[in-house]
Amino acid sequence: AIPLVVAVSTSIAAKSGLLIRDRQAFERARSLQALIFDKTGTLTEGRFGVTDIVSLSGEENEKILSLAASLEASSEHPIAAGILESAREKGLETRSVKAFSSIPGKGVEGEVEGKKFLVVSPGYLEEKGIAIEDEKIEEIKEQGKTVVFLLEGEKVLGALALADIVRKESREAISKLKDMGIKCLMLTGDNRYVAAWVARELELDDYFAEVLPHEKAEKVKEVQKQYITGMVGDGINDAPALAQADVGIAIGAGTDVAIETADIVLVKNDPRDVLNIIGLSRKTYSKMY
Ligand code: ADP
Ligand code: MG
Repeated sequence: AIPLVVAVSTSIAAKSGLLIRDRQAFERARSLQALIFDKTGTLTEGRFGVTDIVSLSGEENEKILSLAASLEASSEHPIAAGILESAREKGLETRSVKAFSSIPGKGVEGEVEGKKFLVVSPGYLEEKGIAIEDEKIEEIKEQGKTVVFLLEGEKVLGALALADIVRKESREAISKLKDMGIKCLMLTGDNRYVAAWVARELELDDYFAEVLPHEKAEKVKEVQKQYITGMVGDGINDAPALAQADVGIAIGAGTDVAIETADIVLVKNDPRDVLNIIGLSRKTYSKMY
C-alpha cells in the first residue's frame, strides 16, 4: 500500500504539473547532491534559428541553405527544425533525398541527384581529419553559436551557424539549486564554445561538451561516484542517462523516449520545477521518518 502522505503528495505534484512516475525516485529526490542538465531543449529552448552562412567553396549561400534543408527534412533534431524554418522563410525549395540516415550526435547524410551530402558537427570533421581554418567561423563559434558543416562527399561546401536561447527560467533554477548546496552541471553534444558560453551565462559549476550520445550515461555514472545524482533531459539521446541517474527527470515537451524513461516529468517544461520536486520530496518524507 502507498502511505497516504505519499499519495497526497503525488496528487499535489500532478496538480502543479509534476508527473511522478516512480515513487522511489521521488523519495530519492530529497537527497540529491548533483544535477546534470542536458543543454539543448532543457536549459535552452531548443529552438534554433540560422544566424550566419559561410561559404567555403564558392557555392552560393542560398544553395548551401537549401541543400542543408533538403537533408534535414527527415531529421527530428532541433538543429534540423531551425535549418528548415530558415529555408522556408527565404522561400527556398528543397530537393528530394535518397538513402537518408542520421549519424547520432554528429549529423545527417543522404543523396541528392546521385551525389552524397552530409550536414555534420565540427567534431565529425575533426574525426575525419578535415581541418577548417576560417577566421569568420572561429569568430562565430566564440560567440557561442552552434556550427554545422555542409559537405559534398569529403568536400566542405560551407558552414551554417545557429543560435538558440537560454530559457529565462533556467537562471533562477540554477541559482536556487546552488544555494541549496546542489552541484549544477551540464552535458551536451554541442561544441565546447557553445557549452562554455551557456555555462558562463548560467554560472554552472561545471560542464561536459562534445559528449556523444552513448557517452552520456557514462558521464552520469562518473558523477554518481561522488554525488547522488539527478539528470534532467529531453532528447532521445538523453534516455540512457535518465535511466542511469538516481532521479531521471524529463522535460514534458521532450521526446517520447525521454518521457517514458524518466522517473519524473516536468509537464510545464520549466526547469524551476526541479526545485519544487526536491521541496515536495523533502516535505513528504520528513513527515514519515
Ligand atoms: P545535444 O546534447 O546538445 O542535444 P546532440 O547530441 O543531439 O546534442 O547533437 C550533438 C551535435 O551533433 C550537434 O550540436 C550538431 O553539431 C550535431 N548534430 C546532431 N544532429 C544533427 C542534425 N540533424 N543536423 C546537423 N547536425 C547535427
Ligand atoms: Mg536536448
